[in-house]
Amino acid sequence: METDITGRFAPSPTGRMHLGNVMCALLSWLDAKSQGGRWLLRIEDIDTQRCKREYALQLMEDLQWLGLMWDDNAVWQSERGDIYQQHLDYLTSLGLTYHCNCTRNDLLASSAPHEADGRIVYPGTCRDKGLKEGAVRIRVPKELEATNGDFIVQRRDGTWAYQLAVVIDDALMGINRVVRGRDLKTSVPQQEFLYDVFGFRKPEFRHHPLLCNMAGLRLCKRDRSLDMGILRKKYLPEEIIGYLAYKTGLTREYRAAGAKELLNAFSWSRIPEDDIMINADCLHASVGQSSGNPSS
Ligand code: GLU
Repeated sequence: METDITGRFAPSPTGRMHLGNVMCALLSWLDAKSQGGRWLLRIEDIDTQRCKREYALQLMEDLQWLGLMWDDNAVWQSERGDIYQQHLDYLTSLGLTYHCNCTRNDLLASSAPHEADGRIVYPGTCRDKGLKEGAVRIRVPKELEATNGDFIVQRRDGTWAYQLAVVIDDALMGINRVVRGRDLKTSVPQQEFLYDVFGFRKPEFRHHPLLCNMAGLRLCKRDRSLDMGILRKKYLPEEIIGYLAYKTGLTREYRAAGAKELLNAFSWSRIPEDDIMINADCLHASVGQSSGNPSS
């Protein structure tokens, strides 16, 4: 079955992948592949301070090891500056951009954090100042002013902003299914606004729950106990994928399984709304003395 579904995984290579990143990759792979679609990989390495090529190469190797193969060549954001510049020029030609020299401290002092999630909504301080330098912001329509504010499309040091790059890339790569963690749900209004301004067709967005540690905090690259370096020493790919399938409700009990074996079981109706608690010990207890365990 071939369809025109195109999904993607768009990791930022700021460290070794952890189990939460693997879950994101798996759900997005299953979403695309269960519909006969294509699944692309984009390395989101625009932030040259935090991203490293070696992390990206390791991440690609980890995905292959897990059996999550992408179609086509991976796209690297760090090579796409000209494309972002052309699109920024277009926004500027529409009179939608302006420079801003507010510091983070200025913003903290002048604006109340957003009620729902503590984000700072930019109050438009530099909108009409006609500055020639600084970060570049985009003027949002009235309905986004209170919730999102004029957001940054290029940082003061020239770094492209995630919101701009992600929309341009998803649109130009023909992505029509965006699957990612629910922490990025608040970006949807900004991104949909950019889709409209550029005249791009919007993808369908799916935001999945996050993996949390036992303290209820989302897993991050600092939680070394669940990073791929450690997991690969203890488990087989099918054990990691099988465990994630069990924790996301795709299987009723734990059993080792490759990603392809989950294609039939995959359905968004099975994926819980709430975040999923996890710790290294319960992974071990579920996988248990599985015969393939390389450490047993
Ligand atoms: N690069 C982002 C991250 O690793 C994901 C972007 C997206 O899926 O829209 O968190």
